[in-house]
Amino acid sequence: MFHINDNFTKIPQSYLFSDIAKRVAAYTQAHPEQSIIRLGIGDVTRPLAPAVVEAMKKACDEMGREETFRGYGPEQGYDFLRQAIVQNDYHARGIDISADEIFVSDGAKSDTGNIGDIFSRDNVVAVCDPVYPVYVDTNAMAGRAGNLNVEGRWDRLVYMPCTAENGFAPAIPQKRADMIYLCFPNNPTGASITYEGLQQWVDYARENGSVILFDSAYEAFITEDIPHSIFEIEGAKQCAIEFRSFSKTAGFTGTRCGYTVVPKELTCGGVSLHALWNRRQTTKFNGVPYIVQRGAEAVYSPEGQKQIRETIAYYLHNAKVIREGLAEAGFTVYGGINAPYIWLKTPDGMTSWEFFDALMEKAGVVGTPGSGFGPSGEGYFRLTAFGSLENSIKAIERIQNAVRN
Ligand code: PLP
Repeated sequence: MFHINDNFTKIPQSYLFSDIAKRVAAYTQAHPEQSIIRLGIGDVTRPLAPAVVEAMKKACDEMGREETFRGYGPEQGYDFLRQAIVQNDYHARGIDISADEIFVSDGAKSDTGNIGDIFSRDNVVAVCDPVYPVYVDTNAMAGRAGNLNVEGRWDRLVYMPCTAENGFAPAIPQKRADMIYLCFPNNPTGASITYEGLQQWVDYARENGSVILFDSAYEAFITEDIPHSIFEIEGAKQCAIEFRSFSKTAGFTGTRCGYTVVPKELTCGGVSLHALWNRRQTTKFNGVPYIVQRGAEAVYSPEGQKQIRETIAYYLHNAKVIREGLAEAGFTVYGGINAPYIWLKTPDGMTSWEFFDALMEKAGVVGTPGSGFGPSGEGYFRLTAFGSLENSIKAIERIQNAVRN
């Protein structure tokens, strides 16, 4: 009999979003008159920028003509997109990254999940708690997380609690970690990291021979003077890999495009991680569609930039409405300034799920229980700014009314 990868059987099903859907369905069945506003979604709702759509239509026409048709493209991405990325996201910020250090992909979920392929199973992995679950589950699949204990924690993972007490900034772990996942601006807490804060991580990684896997999927939402890229930090090219995505930046959640930066200076025992990732990608990945890459390139055109900035400003305005409205209603709120996520402390010591039920019943508003992102998320709750302005305003009015009554 063949054997399966047993690690998969150790991973509990993720019930978070199906549990939410079930509770909402049961509630709406019992209260058909109550309209529900969903502020739990992590998906964008605004359409693609017209400049992106135009570029994709043009590329589509090219694909339909013999003279301009393209088959397999370079696994690492077309040069036109790699150049647009380095010029706009790195050189424009004074960061020295070269186009061949960019690996274009179908998104940051795949890359943050697949990057483990180039690392030993024996590495000790550190993750923030609460966390974007992909980092945890993909390491569990690879056998790097050990076994799940009764409290729902993996016994080989190092958890770095991020709570109000530490300003949602993970402390350098007591136990040495080989691979450290950091995500700033953060999903789910909406927290960000300062230059000094990130420098400490880079220094730690270099002193301890660790690698930082830096997810900056929400970089486009930054409004303050904080790092957009880990490569703004001295020494990061020797210890970090960065993941970026067009998903939230430009509404590509369904279109699919992102990229990963693996600096050539990043080595382990004389072996280049750039060479390993290139080997992995050329073996297991055949590139992002030409049409999509032309769409992503158009994000960097002057019209594209103007259009995506407007959409990001729209979401950030929603975030402000939600954040300020909740604070006015007496809630303790975090995030929503450099991120599309608002993270709030549940009142009166309620659990995340108790608050979920109360919010749905009293205000008809649905969010995401913080405990779904990890044990330290208990007692917190996530709302997102990706809905419409109208719904964001209505949700806040309902919450304020519910608190008053
Ligand atoms: N990283 C973080 C922190 C995310 O929150 C998400 C999506 O929600 C992703 C990565 C996935 O991005 P993509 O759509 O590029 O796969």
